[in-house]
Amino acid sequence: MRNTILKLLAIFFPIQLLFIYILKGFPDLVETYYSQSFFVYISQLQHFLTSWIPFSIGDLFYSAMVLIILGWLIKLIRRKTKSLKTMLLEAFAFVSLIYFLFHVFWGFNYYRLPLHDSLGISTEYNKADLLEYICDLIQQTNTLHSQLVSEDSLKVDYDFTQKEVQDLVFKAYQNTDNTDLKISYRIENLKPSLFSLPLSYAGFSGYVNPFTNEAQYNYKIPTYKFPTTMAHEIGHQLGFSKENEANFIASIITMEDSNKFLRYSGLTFALKYSLNDMYKKDPVLSGVLISDLHPGILKNYQEVQNFWEAYSGPVELIMEKIYGNYLKVNNQPQGIESYSYVVALLVNYYKQQSH
Ligand SMILES: [Zn+2]
Repeated sequence: MRNTILKLLAIFFPIQLLFIYILKGFPDLVETYYSQSFFVYISQLQHFLTSWIPFSIGDLFYSAMVLIILGWLIKLIRRKTKSLKTMLLEAFAFVSLIYFLFHVFWGFNYYRLPLHDSLGISTEYNKADLLEYICDLIQQTNTLHSQLVSEDSLKVDYDFTQKEVQDLVFKAYQNTDNTDLKISYRIENLKPSLFSLPLSYAGFSGYVNPFTNEAQYNYKIPTYKFPTTMAHEIGHQLGFSKENEANFIASIITMEDSNKFLRYSGLTFALKYSLNDMYKKDPVLSGVLISDLHPGILKNYQEVQNFWEAYSGPVELIMEKIYGNYLKVNNQPQGIESYSYVVALLVNYYKQQSH
């Protein structure tokens, strides 16, 4: 009986691969029947089961998975009772099951309609469009910065606890009057990661556990980064699996909020991506634009950079490689590079709003 189940699961794996391969050609169907329908219900069930628990159940689940894999490896090396064939069958069945659960609970969202299609905006923009967008962002950011500090040279300090920022970001999602994004966030399910220290070394601010739909954030990052990080992870929770789309949602939700600190995090977040993009197109111009920013704003950027530098090392490079491959496997062929696609969304969304 046990062997039959294992065999069925193992055979199921290539069938799943084929199914996903075909599904990539039908983003409309995924959008309608999965992302806007099945996923909405299944994620509500996940939130109902895990949101009231103060720590991350998903992190425990990951720890258990690591233990199971280690146990399997030890058995493989010692191999006394089971044949190699049985052990490989077990491994295949395990991978097949995890792969199945990953997709049913969250992963099919990778194959939904691209956000620019849902929003009805283009992905094309030229340097003049980008320049106009950046100038507007710089003006807004400088004005807001002056309201938050007494001198241009001071960085903005975030005197909030994690929980306070968490609640502000949750409220931002609840109160948003943006009808373009189809946001329906009802249950707060955001937790500090049990793995925050290793995450810091790996260069990660947070992640969503697809099996439990809990959003975890790295509680060691500077508080100034909490709003956009949390908003990004909630974006993932809502079914925007792709990095660039979660970044876009995080920018819009925080930039449009009434809280000034959230807006400051959001504006500087969008600005950073836009300036990086301008740097690729025209490094001299990007330098001129940066010099327009209040020095205190650069200090907030510096604070974040210092944080990551304190933890940088070989682990970060290895993780970047692994995560880059993960993104490629999951329908984001440009890998980590695709992060700049967020600028295409921001510039064109802004253009649509202002005309
Ligand atoms: Zn992400």
